[in-house]
Amino acid sequence: MRAKHMELSGWGRSRVATVDAWRPERMPDAMAVLGAGHPGGLIAYAGGRSYGDAPLNDGGSVLMTGRLDRILAADWEAGEVVCEPGVTFGDLMRVALAHGFVVPVTPGTGFATIGGGVANDVHGKNHDRHGSFGDHVRWIDLALADGEVRRISPDSDPDLFAATIGGIGLTGIMVAVCIGLRRVKSNAVRLYERRARDLEHFLTLQESARDAATYSVGWIDATARGRELGRGILETAEESRATAEVPPGPRRRMPLEMPGFALNRMTVGLFNTMYYNRVPAEGRERHARLGQFLYPLDSIEDWNRLYGKRGFYQFQCVLPDAGAPAGLRRLMEEISAAGTGSFLAVLKSLGGAGRGHLSFPMRGYTLALDFPAKPGVQDLMRRLEHLTLDFGGRIYLAKDATMSAESFAAMYPKLDAFRDVLERVDPKGRLVSDMARRLRIRGTGA
Ligand SMILES: Cc1cc2nc3c(=O)[nH]c(=O)nc-3n(C[C@H](O)[C@H](O)[C@H](O)COP(=O)(O)OP(=O)(O)OC[C@H]3O[C@@H](n4cnc5c(N)ncnc54)[C@H](O)[C@@H]3O)c2cc1C
Repeated sequence: MRAKHMELSGWGRSRVATVDAWRPERMPDAMAVLGAGHPGGLIAYAGGRSYGDAPLNDGGSVLMTGRLDRILAADWEAGEVVCEPGVTFGDLMRVALAHGFVVPVTPGTGFATIGGGVANDVHGKNHDRHGSFGDHVRWIDLALADGEVRRISPDSDPDLFAATIGGIGLTGIMVAVCIGLRRVKSNAVRLYERRARDLEHFLTLQESARDAATYSVGWIDATARGRELGRGILETAEESRATAEVPPGPRRRMPLEMPGFALNRMTVGLFNTMYYNRVPAEGRERHARLGQFLYPLDSIEDWNRLYGKRGFYQFQCVLPDAGAPAGLRRLMEEISAAGTGSFLAVLKSLGGAGRGHLSFPMRGYTLALDFPAKPGVQDLMRRLEHLTLDFGGRIYLAKDATMSAESFAAMYPKLDAFRDVLERVDPKGRLVSDMARRLRIRGTGA
């Protein structure tokens, strides 16, 4: 098997790496890639839906897992599947729904893979109710840097398991993952949309949705200021008994690279006002396919080209409950004053900590939004990073491309436990990424 020398980027297209990319068709080939010497180290690259540099390894190798996408076993009585890591959430969801189940937690795109979902311990719109993806993983077959394949579970090797959930691919290459599914009555949800006039109103609505709703997600107008700061739409959803027959529409493609100047305070502000007003003041209710609700952007292929050639950054933090009202206000003020043309911000509540040493969630509120890569944006990201620290929060590695090693260490209190595991399973640091080097995850150069 041969590697292809090529450029790869994260979803934000602002971080680019030149790599030797290996794309095995079958697991034995993947094991041979792992066993070969890689002077610049190796990291898994799956769906490429992480925004920054988690799956990149400039000057080294990447193992592309996209073709390792087989479902290996399924028990449709118990609701359990075992699959290769390159299976996407969207595909697994379709198969599960056909048998009356759902993947219990899924990120906002069906193109992310199961391997990527474990490695970032991803969360969905139901974190208060169902936790993060790692909570539903029963065991993992993990190929360590020296080629040994170990089946790890919370009982067999709790530390290695906790380091692998949310471990951004540094503990080994996952070769199979066993997932517990959740039974549902249909492929649809009842979707309720309500306007929130400002941040305070938003948080009041979202707080009551925490216990009452299965799914909830808020869309905030990031350009609103003054009395309207934090206004937006809160969506909540419940599983429906009635099946939705609507066939999925054709996928649309971003027709071309948008010029950077097309996104400015005026165009984005106009879009956001239209978005806010599309929901009547008294709210509305409708029936929607689960896929449409869970993966709203997946019908537009390559939507990341919207931000032009230079790409964009996504900022996502979580603030603990206590600091959230004041902290979110400060973040929104900073963002709105910067006026860098960000679209909608997403605001969600999170229910508690994940199982992984580097899991992102904590009980609190998470805010996510995009910034086109323009001059000055790195300074803005730095200010938002410091505000996040001031309010006791943390930044999400799946989205990050700019955080400093110092802030990372301050935000992730179990980093030392994670480092101990890496020292045990990969003392030579064969598995490495641009993110690991930037954040000095091993405590040294990488
Ligand atoms: C539109 C959109 C919406 C999103 N919404 C959410 C959301 O709601 N919630 C959320 O939590 N995240 C969300 N994300 C982020 C996304 O879910 C994560 O970044 C996820 O990890 C991407 O998976 P991937 O398959 O693309 O992995 P990649 O981005 O390719 O890789 C991610 C990490 O997984 C590691 N990895 C992948 N496969 C393996 C393997 N077999 N063995 C070891 N390591 C492996 C890689 O090394 C890397 O560190 C969203 C992203 C997009 C683009």
